[in-house]
Amino acid sequence: MIKVSNLNKKFGQLHVLKNINVEIEKGEVVVIIGPSGSGKSTFLRCLNLLEYPTSGEVIFEGIPITSKENNIDKLRQKMGMVFQQFNLFPHMNVIDNITLAPIKVKGMSKEEGEKTALQLLKMVGLQDKAYSYPKQLSGGQKQRIAIARALAMSPDVMLFDEPTSALDPEMVGEVLYVMRQLASKGMTMVIVTHEMGFAKEVADRVIFMDDGKILEQGTPKNIFLNPQHVRTKDFLGKIL
Ligand code: ADP
Ligand code: MG
Repeated sequence: MIKVSNLNKKFGQLHVLKNINVEIEKGEVVVIIGPSGSGKSTFLRCLNLLEYPTSGEVIFEGIPITSKENNIDKLRQKMGMVFQQFNLFPHMNVIDNITLAPIKVKGMSKEEGEKTALQLLKMVGLQDKAYSYPKQLSGGQKQRIAIARALAMSPDVMLFDEPTSALDPEMVGEVLYVMRQLASKGMTMVIVTHEMGFAKEVADRVIFMDDGKILEQGTPKNIFLNPQHVRTKDFLGKIL
């Protein structure tokens, strides 16, 4: 589904991604772990071109999206993204947050948009919040709405950048529960997270990033029980 070849990203003199090569299969759940500043967010953002790579290629569903003539908006519709800070529109209620893009970008009718939104709200367990505003919701509820909003575009891939890092501990579980459901339905997911229990249970593959490189990758068992690199061991020792 996604093929990344020789991906490099520099911010001025700072070389943040150093020749990344990786492939992600349809239906795969990939968890990315690694120290702060190792380039995890930048990598995710290069996948959907929120950051433009300095060099290298990203092929998504057979299309080299890094070549200039491609339609970035079309591509982004196919890749949902969920951020640490929710990024809901504060002046819009939940239904409007969810239906804005499908109506504007996909030309969905208001009725169809609302029908889809209500189904998604049911899936994330928040049907009763359809007409609430973001400020009336807890962090965990906001993040579940953000997931519903991304799903409303019917993406083929979901990218998550530390979706539970800004939450109070008691709200982490409800968000991971929704993500688990998505994974079990076969959604292709790339997830940056420090939730190792979740990674062990749900990930098909764990990638350890360090200093802009993929240092090692493997099944959760391999990475957590038998890490090969001293840097991986160090990192796991600090967070487990
Ligand atoms: P991680 O998500 O693993 O913590 P990031 O991808 O956010 O790492 O950042 C990797 C490095 O790139 C850090 O040194 C960070 O300061 C730098 N960086 C990230 N975004 C930018 C930017 N827009 N401009 C300049 N430097 C950036
Ligand atoms: Mg980050």
